[in-house]
Amino acid sequence: MFNKFSDRIYIQPPEHFTDRPNIGLIIGDKYTLLFEAGNSAENVELLKGRLLADNLPQPDFIAISHWHWDHSFGMDAWNLPTIAGEKTNEYLKKVSGWKWDDESMTGRVQTGEDIVFCNEMIKREYPDRDKIKVIPADITFNDSMTIDLGGIECQLVHVAGPHADDSVVCYIPSEKFVFLGDSNGKDLYGQPWHFDIEHEDDFMEETGKIPYDMEKVNAYLALLDKLDFTHCIGGHADIMTKEQLYKSFE
Ligand SMILES: [Zn+2]
Repeated sequence: MFNKFSDRIYIQPPEHFTDRPNIGLIIGDKYTLLFEAGNSAENVELLKGRLLADNLPQPDFIAISHWHWDHSFGMDAWNLPTIAGEKTNEYLKKVSGWKWDDESMTGRVQTGEDIVFCNEMIKREYPDRDKIKVIPADITFNDSMTIDLGGIECQLVHVAGPHADDSVVCYIPSEKFVFLGDSNGKDLYGQPWHFDIEHEDDFMEETGKIPYDMEKVNAYLALLDKLDFTHCIGGHADIMTKEQLYKSFE
């Protein structure tokens, strides 16, 4: 079920079993934007059904926060115009050529291109990995782009941040709200950490040990300073105030 933040913003909460993130719905008079694509065709069908059940509009465009599979692998299944930052799209082009047999997946962990946690979650989301279809976006931008949905504007802003260098946030000035994607999260790819599917409850403890790169955090917060917002939401957590977000790095 999508939760209501305002008349214009609804949020489908995360589903941790296969690492599905928050999905944002921004409703304009003319168009509706979905922020984050879902992680599979099955997830997309579920989202369409929930929108129908909640009497909410289906999206006209799909925008994503960054290249990681849980945010992007549903793009193809929407069959709608898709939007991503230029840097994200470079990653998606690369990932679209990846193979999904066990050997290829394990090989990418060894080269550092992917991580054990994502491989395990992908295997769980996709009992049949032949169904994985990764596509690049139709529309790309550098730095930022503004979408007028009719009576409400969304600004997609490339902020990078501690989690991934391609991270984009979705800022909705009239609602003083920002969808952060995972931009405020730890760097799960650049730092070593331990994940074992047999002990998946240790996830928070293990990722909690990863240090933030404070240089990246400070540059990120300097960019967010320019946005006038009261509330925001990260990729896999609850709504926070701007103060709570800033405090989370202390
Ligand atoms: Zn991520």
